[in-house]
Amino acid sequence: MLGTILNGPRDVRSVELPEPTIIHPTDAIIRLSATCICGSDLWPYRGINPVTEPRQMGHEYCGVVTEVGSAVKTVKTGQFVVGSFVISDNTCPHCRYGFQSSCEQREFMSGAQAVYARIPLADGTLVATQEMPSEDLIPSLLATSDVLGTGWYAADAARVQPGSTAVVVGDGAVGLMGVLSAKQAGAARIIVMSRHKARQELALEYGATDIVAERGDAGVAKVKELTNRIGADAVLECVGTEESMAQALQCARPGSTIGYVGVPHGVQFDGQKLFFTQVGMMGGPAPVRRFLPHLMELVLSRKINPGKVFDLELPLADVAEGYRAMDERRAIKTLLRVP
Ligand SMILES: [Zn+2]
Repeated sequence: MLGTILNGPRDVRSVELPEPTIIHPTDAIIRLSATCICGSDLWPYRGINPVTEPRQMGHEYCGVVTEVGSAVKTVKTGQFVVGSFVISDNTCPHCRYGFQSSCEQREFMSGAQAVYARIPLADGTLVATQEMPSEDLIPSLLATSDVLGTGWYAADAARVQPGSTAVVVGDGAVGLMGVLSAKQAGAARIIVMSRHKARQELALEYGATDIVAERGDAGVAKVKELTNRIGADAVLECVGTEESMAQALQCARPGSTIGYVGVPHGVQFDGQKLFFTQVGMMGGPAPVRRFLPHLMELVLSRKINPGKVFDLELPLADVAEGYRAMDERRAIKTLLRVP
């Protein structure tokens, strides 16, 4: 089958690989309906996260179950399923508390930029649809697996309330999904920090009410101006850099919460400054499994269209061009069609 290997910085290839097989009795094998490239795949691609050995890429997935292990009870062959990028049993204390991304048996998905993938802990991880979804819904269902689930978590963690003002820091795919999620949570005003025209337009379509193109102190000043010098009721931090986190902290009003879902790279905090800022912080890898049934229902009933975030579609064999396009910011997010 075709799969995707990252050999080193900027060296990603579509290669022929053996098909995955059941290793543990709790595994399932799926045939991907479509897969995609994540912003977080760019960290190892750019060599910012070191790559010491060839790595099979891909952690966002949806598809049809082709085989299940002997201990799998609820997932059945032939079902269409979506799973989180974090493998979880959905039964341990952390899972039952809604934090499946900290599951006692947590594993991070890999190898999904391929025709087939092995899904560990299939019963806990996968959510099946009642029937085979319409082909045009596949991009949106795929989006629930990570990018939408993560944007949703940012809004959930930031405690976006109906009628409130939310600021979204970051106009990448997750930031845009954060806008959609804040809108669904009922935010009356959604300010997105973005400098790119195509992303601004999509943000407006997803429910943004204001665009702030300025960065750093000028960006913070603009947000303050838009909020009568108070700051935002909720902030969604969807980048993970020192600068974006500083912006998030300065845009947040006292008593508000920052939902931070950008994986931090080089972010440090001054304890005393944090103390006097009086802002709450909740973040980390999104517990997508908690949100999946609801998000899939919103997609299946066509209430939301997160699949629009894919502005480039390529065959799986052209995965290298997909990475290049995202690296060079020619594409927001690349969907890979599976042959
Ligand atoms: Zn668990």
